[in-house]
Amino acid sequence: MRAVVFERHGAPAEVRELPDPRPAPDGVVVRVEATGLCRSDWHGWMGHDPDIELPHVPGHELAGVVEAVGSRVTRRRPGDRVTVPFVCACGTCPACAAGDQQVCERQTQPGFHHWGSFAQYVALDHADVNLVAIPDDMAYATAAALGCRFATAFRAVVQQGRVAAGEWVAVHGCGGVGLSAVMIAAASGARVVAVDVSPQALDLARKFGAAVCVDASRTPETAAAIRDLTGGGAHLSLDALGSPATCAASVNGLRRRGRHVQVGLLPSADGTTPVPLARAVALELELLGSHGMAAHAYPAMLELVGSGVLRPDLLVTRTILLDAAPQALAEMGTAPGAGVTVIEPWR
Ligand SMILES: [Zn+2]
Ligand SMILES: [Zn+2]
Repeated sequence: MRAVVFERHGAPAEVRELPDPRPAPDGVVVRVEATGLCRSDWHGWMGHDPDIELPHVPGHELAGVVEAVGSRVTRRRPGDRVTVPFVCACGTCPACAAGDQQVCERQTQPGFHHWGSFAQYVALDHADVNLVAIPDDMAYATAAALGCRFATAFRAVVQQGRVAAGEWVAVHGCGGVGLSAVMIAAASGARVVAVDVSPQALDLARKFGAAVCVDASRTPETAAAIRDLTGGGAHLSLDALGSPATCAASVNGLRRRGRHVQVGLLPSADGTTPVPLARAVALELELLGSHGMAAHAYPAMLELVGSGVLRPDLLVTRTILLDAAPQALAEMGTAPGAGVTVIEPWR
């Protein structure tokens, strides 16, 4: 198969012929029809993720067709159209038994713990637990956006964030997950304040339902701006980028008893990020994390997609060939562009 591979962190990745993967007894091999390019892939390439062993094939936002199944797989067959959450769960640990597969104790993430989907084929573990059937009328490029950003945003806004109609919701960072959150919060009846440094990203946020956009490159105090715009602060605020600055701005932009949800990964050198915790005490804020979404939670989201309330298809702004992926991966750090880029390995 053809795949994007890198030998050293930060050194240019390249497209190469690699052996086709084989399914584990409880796993499958999926023919990758579309796979999203995500900032997490860039972090992994740069060496910010300790789980990655070199050489490595990135990619965790995939959709495709089951090509081969392991001997113990009972619920999936070759030919099935599927996607997976980026957290593939074991199905048997205490977290999984409680229904919290998104924080599985023995999780495997394609493109981090093992070779991922910037390839024509990818092997996936515990297929009966993790594979999600794609509706017949959903394009692969759209389905690829579900597993990481859209499902992550859905859980962050709806389940962890407990959004309610009429609330003010601030979204810091309007990349893939942030734009998804804007769309989902707006569809839930919330009034959304979108924050980003990119005018293009803010244009998309407006298109996806943001009531107010804040250009952080021209607004030194984004938290103060949000408190002004919302009459005291947001009820719910997400750091969808993952940086000390956006995390602090999200917490500082909340009103009393507001909820902050940390969605963007915070890969700082020492693994800790300063948080304005004094404010959390004084205002009785809730600080929550959100980490993907379990496969069993997809139907409620897919129903809203099927009825047209949510439009993940609109997030996909660019499709590229596998050969263009190494450069696009490198550009995620400095010039990620607006919207979601999807790689089509067989095109
Ligand atoms: Zn991702
Ligand atoms: Zn588990």
